[in-house]
Amino acid sequence: AAKKTGEPYRHWSPVLDERDGENARLGAELQAALHAGQFRVHYQPIVAVPEGRVVAVEALVRWQHPQRGLIEPARFIPVAEQTGLIVDLGAWVLRAACEQMVRWRAQHGADAPDRMSVNVSARQLARPQFPDAVAAILTTTGLPPTCLTVEVTETAVFGGGHAVAALHRLRALGVRIALDDFGTGHSSLGLLHTVPVDVLKVDKSFVDRVTEAGRHAVIAKALIQVSDGLGLSAVAEGVETAEQADALYALGYRLLQGYYYGRPAPSPDLLTLHPTVRV
Ligand code: C2E
Ligand code: CA
Ligand code: CA
Ligand code: CA
Repeated sequence: AAKKTGEPYRHWSPVLDERDGENARLGAELQAALHAGQFRVHYQPIVAVPEGRVVAVEALVRWQHPQRGLIEPARFIPVAEQTGLIVDLGAWVLRAACEQMVRWRAQHGADAPDRMSVNVSARQLARPQFPDAVAAILTTTGLPPTCLTVEVTETAVFGGGHAVAALHRLRALGVRIALDDFGTGHSSLGLLHTVPVDVLKVDKSFVDRVTEAGRHAVIAKALIQVSDGLGLSAVAEGVETAEQADALYALGYRLLQGYYYGRPAPSPDLLTLHPTVRV
């Protein structure tokens, strides 16, 4: 990459130089991929226990690369955030997910999931245009706003710009707000009285060790109590085993998401009741 004057440190190390060049190339590829229609949305069920019904699905983007196959978001979302492409890519995901939800509602009626949950990055949330863009997608797809949840992280909420105002506007429309990766940030609890929130997504790191009688289980228990006390709903993320599901249920969790219930897929099984907890 060419060295710009006035930025002596950024390009100092040859390693960084290489990374920058690689990221620039990837950024251009991502832009082309969006125009070429190479992104796909996979959906992962969020299941209510003990009934086992799929009450919501989370939309998770993938890149179907013509040579390299299916690429997961960790490989390209950070670069899309850096280059700003996340704004267009995020809008594309939101539209695709809303369209899918409208189709499921037409196909399955009352058996369709109640809500579609879509991840929104800091960069999207900070833009003053974001709430209008969401409203426009809801209007053109015909999805009722109450059927949409946006998942934001603490970092995005604190990312400044118009983030907090955007959340208030979205909520006024009837859209739900979920705090993603809850419990992993620096002041997750402080956030709860400064921003409008409906759902806490309790991070996988707590779920992983919830069956051991240790600190993780204590925190998982505290988080469901905070959630219940504030009248929010809590989703436990990354549930992989029946033992974890049982332990979470015993703590009071009623919404579970993870490979145990289903991996993200282009057309997940929405109607079969899922394995439930041993009450
Ligand atoms: P996230 O929002 O925390 O999504 C949950 C991630 O955990 C997903 O990874 C999901 O496939 C994975 N997961 C779910 N259940 C389990 C489990 O039982 N075990 C394990 N090991 N993993 C599980 P994925 O799809 O690779 O997405 C990674 C991250 O990329 C997401 O984390 C989210 O931060 C971001 N991302 C994905 N799609 C989008 C998008 O459309 N927009 C934005 N801005 N970010 C997205
Ligand atoms: Ca998420
Ligand atoms: Ca998460
Ligand atoms: Ca995460």
